[in-house]
Amino acid sequence: MSTTTNDEITRAARDLAKALAGRVILPGDGAYDEARALWNGIIDRRPAVIVRARTAEDVREAVRFATSRALPVSVRGGGHNVAGNAVVDGAVVVDLAEMRGVAVDAAARTVRVEGGAQIGDVDEATQKHGLAVPFGVFPETGVAGLTLGGGLGWLRRRFGLTVDSLLEVEAVTAAGEIVVANERQHSDLFWALRGGGGNFGVVTSFTFRAHEIGTDVLFSAVYLPFDAAREALAFYHSYINTTPDALSSFAILGGLPDDPHAPAEVRGKDFALFLSVWSGDPDEGERVIRPLREFAAPLLDDTGVRPFIEVQHVFDPDYPKGGRYYWKSNYIDGLDAKMIDILVEHAGRRPSPVSTIDVWQLGGAVARVPAEATPIPQRSAAYLIGIESNWFDAAADAENIAWARELYRAVVDASPGGLYVNFAGFGEEADELTRRAYGANYARLARVKAAYDPANVFRFNTNIKPAAAAESTTG
Ligand code: FAD
Repeated sequence: MSTTTNDEITRAARDLAKALAGRVILPGDGAYDEARALWNGIIDRRPAVIVRARTAEDVREAVRFATSRALPVSVRGGGHNVAGNAVVDGAVVVDLAEMRGVAVDAAARTVRVEGGAQIGDVDEATQKHGLAVPFGVFPETGVAGLTLGGGLGWLRRRFGLTVDSLLEVEAVTAAGEIVVANERQHSDLFWALRGGGGNFGVVTSFTFRAHEIGTDVLFSAVYLPFDAAREALAFYHSYINTTPDALSSFAILGGLPDDPHAPAEVRGKDFALFLSVWSGDPDEGERVIRPLREFAAPLLDDTGVRPFIEVQHVFDPDYPKGGRYYWKSNYIDGLDAKMIDILVEHAGRRPSPVSTIDVWQLGGAVARVPAEATPIPQRSAAYLIGIESNWFDAAADAENIAWARELYRAVVDASPGGLYVNFAGFGEEADELTRRAYGANYARLARVKAAYDPANVFRFNTNIKPAAAAESTTG
């Protein structure tokens, strides 16, 4: 337990600032409130010190500053995690928001990305060469949190999870050392970082394999009336078994607000939506996607070839910073009549009109990686059910969170196992959740944790407990 007073911390933090390329932000500073704010407006926490790092050496100094005073440490990449673990009351926040550099080696088809970059930063740089890393579907999401938890996006079935394209990381360990981890050096750490979350150190840079996709993809959004939702999900389940890997799609139950950003045909309405991106030959894509477009008379069919960068922005209006968000998820294997009933019934009584239930099509390259190759053991599920509670009124927190939890519990028994840590609510199930997420890989993760972070310095995450000494000497 630290006995350091706030005044001592403030004085020491001002001294620390002199040694940094970046800066220190403290309570009372003008920048403090902006710097502690996260994307999820529910989170309102007051850290002791925010270190806005500029370099790996700054990150190292910040970690040493905190650990030498036994202060809690949180790590902020893009600040997008729903649970808000990036900012913790009384902690030293190692904040990488100003480390957003991206360097593409087009000839080698690799890209080095600093630990605070947003995925849009990387998309902009790689797309100049017709390349892409398979990240998520929202450009302001942090590369760091998304990658360390797995990473699912529009290219998932063609190229796998984001971690499947990760080649190397540079990280600062709990001991305050800068290490480079890849398949040849610190290979156990490298393995653990490919899905084990922020448990093992602060990643200051990632090197990814970038893939050739060109600059255009075929995008399709087919909106159907909500009363066709049952038939639409049953059809979707029979359809997706036949699709090539170049297609990554969703079936979504939800609604759009009654405001100008929503297309007039669906404004203020509930719907079932088939949302797809085809990243291969567009003519073949037209043929593959056609059944989704012809299934029933749509409210709106918005299908066409578009720049990939533009497609990465399609969700921009749906998730404003400072809105209130609580997201959970479950893997499932099938959409039988019982599951469809559960999803449609919950969608029909969601407390917020802009909440959605997202059925992520998995399979393809995601499923071709063995369960033990990365920490993420669940590779074979057919779908991920994303439960997205989105609302704006603080007075409605309880009912919106309750709705998501209720749906989560209603589908959890149908899960073939595993849990996607990037959509894990507030992590309130803690140990149970972590063990479910990592299954048979948990013991190995705990051993790597014991080797790199025996005191559990990095604990504000889906936390893996360091293996006890006897366990950690095995393997
Ligand atoms: P932060 O809140 O900054 O960090 C989250 C946690 O990651 C931290 O608490 C810390 O434990 C760890 N961390 C962050 N940076 C570092 C670092 N440099 N080194 C070590 N640990 C670090 N996920 C998908 O898979 N696909 C999607 O399409 C997708 N879309 C999303 C859209 C929106 C609008 C939002 C809000 C989230 C989305 N997510 C998606 C979920 C997202 O992947 C997670 O919320 C992820 O944690 C966000 O990472 P971040 O760096 O922005 O978050």
